[in-house]
Amino acid sequence: MEEDYVFKIVVIGDSAVGKTQLLGRFTRDEFFLDSKSTIGIEFQTRTVDVARRRVKAQVWDTAGQERYRAVTSAYYRGALGAVLVYDITRRRTFEHAARWVDELRAHADKSIVVMLVGNKADLPRAVSADEAAAFAEEQGLFFSEASALSGDNVERAFLRLIEEIHANV
Ligand code: GDP
Ligand code: MG
Repeated sequence: MEEDYVFKIVVIGDSAVGKTQLLGRFTRDEFFLDSKSTIGIEFQTRTVDVARRRVKAQVWDTAGQERYRAVTSAYYRGALGAVLVYDITRRRTFEHAARWVDELRAHADKSIVVMLVGNKADLPRAVSADEAAAFAEEQGLFFSEASALSGDNVERAFLRLIEEIHANV
């Protein structure tokens, strides 16, 4: 069956926070032990039902470009949603979230809906959920912790983002 909407969603955040694994978990319900296996793939899709509409989520991966600060404006073009990922075990990746928000404000559409995801929730934390929730609120982002490894909250975070985008279209 044809979809009613296609939503482009970009995944951003520092290197090794788990962007590729979150994307794989949401689109295929898989976790790869060898992350390199997905390098080069630009996006993956998954179709979900939202409010009786079929929505194809086209989820884009940076494919390692974030390492060289080479995420270009083409990556953000047409994106309706963003998943901004940090790693709850590495504080610096959370501190860098503000930079990624600046990147979005500079390159993405003003109405882009953003889900801040604190990944690796299966590991001991270096960032409290309260602190991250406060940052998200201040910046106007939705927020969830998740684990791409266990799968906890991954589907829920993506679906919430898709619902919020849908509510805006
Ligand atoms: P990316 O550079 O942001 O795309 O990060 P990757 O998806 O390649 O993941 C980086 C590393 O973190 C890999 O070794 C993954 O196996 C690991 N990883 C990703 N997500 C999780 C998670 O939720 N929990 C744990 N424990 N490890 C994870
Ligand atoms: Mg990656």
